[in-house]
Amino acid sequence: MASVTKFMINREYAAKQLNKIQNRIQDAANAANRDASSIKLVGASKKQQPELIRLFLEQGLQALGENYLQEAIGKRAELDVLNPEWHFIGQIQSNKTKLVAQNFSWVHGVDRLKIAQRLAKQNPNSDPINILLQLNMDAEESKGGVLVDSAAELADQVAQIGGASLRGFMLIPQPRDSDSEQRAVFASAYQLMQDTNQRYGLVMDSLSMGMSGDLEAAIAEGSTIVRVGTDLFGKRE
Ligand SMILES: *Cc1c(COP(=O)(O)O)cnc(C)c1O
Repeated sequence: MASVTKFMINREYAAKQLNKIQNRIQDAANAANRDASSIKLVGASKKQQPELIRLFLEQGLQALGENYLQEAIGKRAELDVLNPEWHFIGQIQSNKTKLVAQNFSWVHGVDRLKIAQRLAKQNPNSDPINILLQLNMDAEESKGGVLVDSAAELADQVAQIGGASLRGFMLIPQPRDSDSEQRAVFASAYQLMQDTNQRYGLVMDSLSMGMSGDLEAAIAEGSTIVRVGTDLFGKRE
């Protein structure tokens, strides 16, 4: 009896939380005169229990973002029955590309040509693997990502790899003091994608930007993928 009650409460919790984030996305899209269906919600599910994630998938969440390979592979065994779209959003080591390619259809943190080449070559699926280049917007030494000045050239190189589909950019900028400064960082990533497309004749269509704290600012400036953890699932363990 106790476990039934717990399940019911959790199911309601998942429905309420998912609805809350979907409403935030809808409101931000409305404010920007955008179609909310052009914005994909990726549940950033690192360090969340599979039983909890499962409830969210049952309520309609369709994509999951994971940072740690072994953790993600363990979750697949429990969650693949609900057929989520798997996004790798963590740092990629070059000796782990095969496991990443085998387990994820989207990879957000690519910042070197060699990584993209390996992912494409090791992709076991007939569909090309979707690649987002991570931008290091603030030139932080502790963070991965390609420097803004080198991003266009890397995009041109990655776009030429067979078996990979270069979809766009991903970024995790430092928090800014004001909403307008936060928006300016996102706007510059959007502009960089447009300029790079034009300069090299590319067709990048995706910007992975916006998390729990800044998804409204990111959507205002053209985000097409938001990665939401805390405000969706709750605090991580
Ligand atoms: C954890 C994580 C998120 C989600 O962050 P929240 O602030 O909990 O929404 C998004 N993107 C990446 C790359 C992450 O590691």
